[in-house]
Amino acid sequence: MWIDPSKPAEHAVITHGHADHARSGHGAVSATPDTLSIMALRYGVDEAAPTSNAFGYGDGFEKGGVHFRFHPAGHVLGSAQILMEYAGERVVVTGDYKRRPDPTCAGFEVVPCDIFISEATFGLPVFRHPATQEEIGKLIQTAQSHPDRCVLVGPMRWARRSG
Ligand SMILES: [Zn+2]
Repeated sequence: MWIDPSKPAEHAVITHGHADHARSGHGAVSATPDTLSIMALRYGVDEAAPTSNAFGYGDGFEKGGVHFRFHPAGHVLGSAQILMEYAGERVVVTGDYKRRPDPTCAGFEVVPCDIFISEATFGLPVFRHPATQEEIGKLIQTAQSHPDRCVLVGPMRWARRSG
């Protein structure tokens, strides 16, 4: 069993639907219902997870004496931290996570644990996220200033390249 495996695995536990975490070709996939839906849209139902196991937040399963449970990561729709408990030890593995409120997904939940493991791309110092309300204000102002044009929203890297 692997969490966010980069190669096809017999059983994959997937933290969220982004392509660098959710890949196709696994024998079985355990994830939140929204992450499974995203994977099915991206890869097709059969390719994404021939055997899929959907778990809501707070739900989970047991394998080999280890109890797995899904908790919200606040990153994107369906994103989860995976809590693993064994012999009184608690380990949390998460992909990207976000502590700032986001109306598009369940909010990050602090999960008490002994060990926290994260692979959070946007935790790198190069990423500086401005205040949400400030960005929404800029979008509204741009749309009102140029009603004849489309306003595109994309990653900051794209915005810098285009000037
Ligand atoms: Zn992500």
